[in-house]
Amino acid sequence: MTSTTHPAIHTTGLTKHYDDVPALVDLDLEVRRGEVFGFLGPNGAGKTTTIRTLLDLIRPTAGSASILGLDTRADAVEIRRHIGYLPSDLAMYPNLTGKDLLTYFANLRGGVDWGHVDALATRLKADLGKKVGDLSSGNRQKVGIIQAFMSRPDLVLMDEPSTGLDPLVQQEFQTMMREVADDGRSVFLSSHTLSEVQRVADRVGIIRQGRLVDVEGVHDLRSKAIRRVELVFDAPVTAEEFAGVAGVRDTQVRDNAIMLSFDGHMEELLAVATGRHHLVDINSEEADLEEIFLAYYREDAVDGESREEAMA
Ligand code: ATP
Repeated sequence: MTSTTHPAIHTTGLTKHYDDVPALVDLDLEVRRGEVFGFLGPNGAGKTTTIRTLLDLIRPTAGSASILGLDTRADAVEIRRHIGYLPSDLAMYPNLTGKDLLTYFANLRGGVDWGHVDALATRLKADLGKKVGDLSSGNRQKVGIIQAFMSRPDLVLMDEPSTGLDPLVQQEFQTMMREVADDGRSVFLSSHTLSEVQRVADRVGIIRQGRLVDVEGVHDLRSKAIRRVELVFDAPVTAEEFAGVAGVRDTQVRDNAIMLSFDGHMEELLAVATGRHHLVDINSEEADLEEIFLAYYREDAVDGESREEAMA
């Protein structure tokens, strides 16, 4: 039995080296009961390595971890009874239908509430009658998500699960994660998309080059959302006109347009943009994670690199 007094996940100094590649370094992390925890990092940051180590699919070089109070190595089998897991590359039998595949997984678990499975399939608009090999990657991913949620586990671990899902399905999927947390259970969601974890996570751990850079409440993270903004005018503008707006950086002017990175108040930017000019178009999108990391975590990254050099 697991007791609800233990955290969902607890790691101490968890470290994994692949030969001389430090994929994960000294991870101290706690994921609480009743939260969706986002594990955010760019490709190659160490997210998959962390999850695979927690599941005892690979062994740590150093450190230890527990899930629901159970040791990830000594109690790996018992842990399986309490968790749902969606790997980034769920190997599926292409000739089985979604239903057959879920039956297979359900039998491994000693049964499942099929009413719940059907409800999940309806919510995600999953077609369980088709052969898995004939499904698009997004529709295959739905079968994987159902598989991870279907036993109502105490902890759901998912490795970049939203890949290929269309926006409406993503929304339903996020509601499903929220419900798990509201039920006192936990979700560990790895992602390389800031906007995704912002929408659904309570707290976010930020990992870069194998190191946990920070753990933040999602509201603190929100203020770090840098946008790439393009403003198009009917006549040429200069970068200097925008230099005084708080939160503007990396301006590039091309003819009648200016491109900039921005994390200030949009109203202020638009006031300057429309004050002296005719604004004819505006494009705004989330900056990529690496840009956000460089803007906010440069010191930590440099620290990490110099630590590594000191160890070499
Ligand atoms: P992605 O989103 O691309 O899967 P990730 O954050 O999950 O990235 P990991 O897959 O954990 O990152 O990889 C962390 C580091 O460890 C990377 O530098 C990767 O190249 C390296 N790595 C991962 N698996 C192995 C392996 N089996 N052998 C050697 N190096 C590996």
